[in-house]
Amino acid sequence: RHQTRAFLRERSAGTIAPPIIVPFEKDSEHLSAWKPESWRQRKAHQQPNYTDSKSLTDAVDIIARMPPLVFAGECRNLQSRLAKCATGEAFLMQGGDCAESFSQFSANSIRDSFRVQLQMAVVAMFGGGVPVVKVGRMAGQFAKPRGDIINGQAFTANARVPDPMRLVQAYNQAAATLNLLRGFASGGYAGLQRIAQWNLDFMAYSDQGGAYMDLAKRAGEAINFMTACGLDSRTPIMTETEYYVSHECLLLDYEQALTREDSTTGLWYDCSGHMLWCGERTRQLDGAHVEFMRGIANPIGVKARPLTAHEVSDKMDPGQLVSLIATLNPENTPGRLTVIVRMGADKLRDNMPRLVEAVRDSAQVVTWVCDPMHGNTESVAGFKTRRYDRIRAEVEAFFDVHEELGTVPGGIHLEMTGDNVTECLGGGASIDEGDLDSRYHTHCDPRLNAEQALEMSFYVASRLAQ
Ligand code: PEP
Ligand code: MN
Repeated sequence: RHQTRAFLRERSAGTIAPPIIVPFEKDSEHLSAWKPESWRQRKAHQQPNYTDSKSLTDAVDIIARMPPLVFAGECRNLQSRLAKCATGEAFLMQGGDCAESFSQFSANSIRDSFRVQLQMAVVAMFGGGVPVVKVGRMAGQFAKPRGDIINGQAFTANARVPDPMRLVQAYNQAAATLNLLRGFASGGYAGLQRIAQWNLDFMAYSDQGGAYMDLAKRAGEAINFMTACGLDSRTPIMTETEYYVSHECLLLDYEQALTREDSTTGLWYDCSGHMLWCGERTRQLDGAHVEFMRGIANPIGVKARPLTAHEVSDKMDPGQLVSLIATLNPENTPGRLTVIVRMGADKLRDNMPRLVEAVRDSAQVVTWVCDPMHGNTESVAGFKTRRYDRIRAEVEAFFDVHEELGTVPGGIHLEMTGDNVTECLGGGASIDEGDLDSRYHTHCDPRLNAEQALEMSFYVASRLAQ
């Protein structure tokens, strides 16, 4: 069986020829026609139907005068990190709620989600030996066709009318979330000396919590050794961490209002988040979302669910994917484009190879990421849920397929939380059907809880270590 790391070592030793990168011909006429509002000429799917256009204009004007949430230089840093994920020199761990909500907004749950992501990164770095790029589905992941950013959740006709002022509330919540995350990332909380203190209280007696503490102890010894060797314990790699935020680029009024021209480069950045991705339902080549996203300079992602052999639908086929990549990343810039594959383990084994081969044969550089959540949703005892075993099987298939093809698994994209919820079945904690109604809190899709997410990171580490 092909071993990814061995392959990369051989490639860097020069025994395997590097891929030939053929620059795509730039369609400059097409590009120069781009403006932050040019998406308005195309069909925008999945947008709310705002009836009060005056109030929409007011809301958008307020947001357009607000400061950017992220800065262009940060987006460029993330892009360079994602370029490393494309070659196997780093690994992306992206995760957070399916949808952030207004009612569940709390400092503790932001902290706990961040904390589990720190733990997962340590597990993958210590166990897998590669740098981990941490990206939250946070500080902007509100938009769903009926999320809190659009309408209230009460069961009344009035509450369900899309209210544009909710866009402003979402901006404010994103700003407050990001402010806290920046504090955690650089204010000492995320310092490597605190590695053993990140374990969540309710995890202390769980198998995964125990496994984490064993690993943290060994990592702590390694840090002490390096400090004894002269590593400066005040160096930023010891005291802070890099953390980025991302969300689905869905509500184009909101995204356009936060799109700003970067004074250093003259490029346009969507300053609502470092990374934006295009959802499975809005990635039509001639649609408004693709038009908007091709013009922003942030690193971007695109969800891909493939066409199975006997299906006739709008699901992704290899030719479509190659065209989409050429449109979104015409200069073939490494790190610019992440392809987030989501299809269920069996379909992935059958169908992902065709996508990966087509992209490879077109010499397109993308970062391949596995979203093992959205192809594994089922209904059990009246709850929308997912089984840990199926999720893990999809991640396994993702690594296997890349190994067989000699291509690079660049990361995973999870719906997860630091809270002790019971939304997904199974895992070491054995959440069963009867547990679902005990702590089923999600606002949208079911998330891995802290223990299940950590368990997944041990599995990922085992694959990265090969
Ligand atoms: C999601 O990420 O929550 C989502 C809806 O995914 P997709 O666009 O892949 O269906
Ligand atoms: Mn979801």
